[in-house]
Amino acid sequence: MSAKWPPRLEVAVLGAGLTGLSAGLELERRRATYRVFEKSATVGGHAITIEDSGYRFDRTGHLLHLRSDALRNEVLEWLDHDCLAIERRSVVFSHGVYTRYPFQANTHGLPPAVAYDCLMGFLATLTQPKLGSPQNFEEFSLSHFGPGFTEHFMRPYNEKLWGVSAREISATWCQRFVPLPKLEDVMRGALGVDPPALGYNARFLYPRRGIGALPEALAKRVPNLERSSAPRQIRLAKRELWFEQGTLGYDTLISSIPLPTLLSLCDELPADVRDAARKLRATHLYYLDVALNGPNPKGFHWAYVPEPKYPFYRVGCYSHFSPELAPPGKASLYVELSAREEPPLARLLAEVTPGLIEMGVLGKSSDIAFARLRRLDHAYVIYDHDYEQALSVIRPFLAAHGVLSTGRYGGWNYSSMEDALLFGRAAVSSAFDANAAR
Ligand SMILES: Cc1cc2nc3c(=O)[nH]c(=O)nc-3n(C[C@H](O)[C@H](O)[C@H](O)COP(=O)(O)OP(=O)(O)OC[C@H]3O[C@@H](n4cnc5c(N)ncnc54)[C@H](O)[C@@H]3O)c2cc1C
Repeated sequence: MSAKWPPRLEVAVLGAGLTGLSAGLELERRRATYRVFEKSATVGGHAITIEDSGYRFDRTGHLLHLRSDALRNEVLEWLDHDCLAIERRSVVFSHGVYTRYPFQANTHGLPPAVAYDCLMGFLATLTQPKLGSPQNFEEFSLSHFGPGFTEHFMRPYNEKLWGVSAREISATWCQRFVPLPKLEDVMRGALGVDPPALGYNARFLYPRRGIGALPEALAKRVPNLERSSAPRQIRLAKRELWFEQGTLGYDTLISSIPLPTLLSLCDELPADVRDAARKLRATHLYYLDVALNGPNPKGFHWAYVPEPKYPFYRVGCYSHFSPELAPPGKASLYVELSAREEPPLARLLAEVTPGLIEMGVLGKSSDIAFARLRRLDHAYVIYDHDYEQALSVIRPFLAAHGVLSTGRYGGWNYSSMEDALLFGRAAVSSAFDANAAR
């Protein structure tokens, strides 16, 4: 056992992304005996900022959409108020034109035949009974938006993002993230009459030097954090973590590492849990960080690109979130790619650059100073038809062994950084409730 460790922990935390750090902060507030173990030398997980040749890149757009005023005030305090409050400038690029986001409430400016398809299909949905529980995302989209919006945006965009057919994913994740416009919004958006800013992300906060400032600020408040440290095995019955330097017991384990990784570390799993673990699906994501030699002439924060002919589905501009993310007069971008196989960078640039030129983001290919291809191993958990059943087996098994698996990938869900901060805190409350009841 490491000399730095107490004989036993009330709570061990795995992972120092925002969920694990938030749990650590709450444990510190409660003066608990705890440790947070982070495999990497860097904290933040998906919420980090990478510096490269004077440019700064997050792991694609990471913007703080905070619904809770109390949490917003805390975040601002952690960041010493070194944070920008921003009104979203997001657009859709399709049929060769830019329209405002969300597509379903902004058909003004599209070719008339496309706008007509969308409006007629939407109007028809108003007189049809809504499906109580649509079987999949395609059914959800057809039922709420009609065939025009489904074919011109919902299906192609979501198939590029999720990497699977719209029939394979359920609609359980959509409620918060896919705005359902009223007839009035659709009509205003079709005629260009001051359409409202719909959706969960109309305003956001962004740390001036990049999102990585947030986990770094939190880590300063969590002294019992061990970087570059990960258990080799979890001995469930004994409630022990096994490291190379020894074992460490815990009463509760809060895990924010991806659920399949957690299960692979457990020393014994019954057959039904092993079967359920095999059903968990998530997509990885390749994206490009692009440094420009000059400014990005397009003013958007990010653009959705639904059409299959482009090899990417979203393009964002970090240096429009904060000018500190690129040297003066230059720009930094991210381009999220549809391909799930690793493409060679040279071929990829040859495929991506014409699209960026068509969008007016680049004038010519030599506007790119450099580009880096990056991968997120877990990007989107797939809400397929086995999802609920698999989790209904895994969650109670883990809970019975004092393991609370939470966060975006620990809880196996589609959620935000605000959720991660709240998940970490809620897990600590549950841990104390469970320990008191033992
Ligand atoms: C493409 C994309 C864009 C996004 N954009 C936004 C956005 O604009 N706004 C927003 O609010 N949210 C956004 N999110 C969601 C946001 O990234 C997550 O909700 C949040 O960062 C999840 O934090 P987490 O701590 O739960 O998980 P993670 O960030 O994955 O952290 C898990 C941590 O566990 C560590 N770990 C892994 N294995 C081990 C191990 N064996 N032992 C110890 N440690 C281990 C990892 O190194 C990592 O640090 C986006 C997500 C993606 C994929």
